[in-house]
Amino acid sequence: MSEINCPKGHGAMEAKKIERSVPFKGIEVSIIEDAFVCPKCKLLAGSVQSAGKLQQTIAEAYRQQAGKLTGEEIKRLRKVKGMTQADLAELSGFGVASIKRWETGAIQTQSADKTLRLHLKENAVNGNREISIPRILLVLTVFQTALNRVILKENDKMLFAAKYLWYADMLAKRKLGRSMTGATYANLTYGPQLNNYNDLLDEIRNADLSEAEELTPNEVAIIQQIAETFPEDRMVYDAAHKEPAWLETRTGELILYTWADKLIAKIT
Ligand SMILES: [Zn+2]
Repeated sequence: MSEINCPKGHGAMEAKKIERSVPFKGIEVSIIEDAFVCPKCKLLAGSVQSAGKLQQTIAEAYRQQAGKLTGEEIKRLRKVKGMTQADLAELSGFGVASIKRWETGAIQTQSADKTLRLHLKENAVNGNREISIPRILLVLTVFQTALNRVILKENDKMLFAAKYLWYADMLAKRKLGRSMTGATYANLTYGPQLNNYNDLLDEIRNADLSEAEELTPNEVAIIQQIAETFPEDRMVYDAAHKEPAWLETRTGELILYTWADKLIAKIT
């Protein structure tokens, strides 16, 4: 903001944030505006925001106060789920131009708001990602390289491999906002295990790695950290059995990704 002088000759005015109420779409919307005030005569100079910026501020405040997703929220939730504007458009059935307008200030109808929420809400079962069997195989393959041994064996039930995978998914959810594989985990007596693992094991072993979305450097780093923390099967097994996520979820129920922030294993 550049300096403004009081028109009554009192010198420089002070930049202030002032709260004011604007009638908009039938409600009084309260907004914070940048303005200048003369410290001597208290004269208030009008908004120093451009008309477009002011309109956007009002639209954001309106949506917040009317209980709709704001443009900032739509953008943040979309990014958490790893979606582009085009992805969200395709998923929700809206045009990409609408998504762009809503993110930058246009106000969505009540019914559009409901549809957007449906597609943007946190998915605690899959960790904000669609399950990908090829990606499960890819993550296990990278674990095998990092551990320098085989963890996906023929005819075993992935007793240990599932624990490595679970830590990778939970840590990715915590650090990156979404799981690595979208897998759902069940709380079994011998620890966290892939939900419906009996149906999945063969699919995983036979998956086509070329269909897996490549791992990001951050994801690879997480796998390496887990492998360094738990070089032996027994270590990852014991650690998983000390996690509140496992201890406080009932046997047979799903372990939700909301536990990601409460992991206690020291993995750095
Ligand atoms: Zn003045």
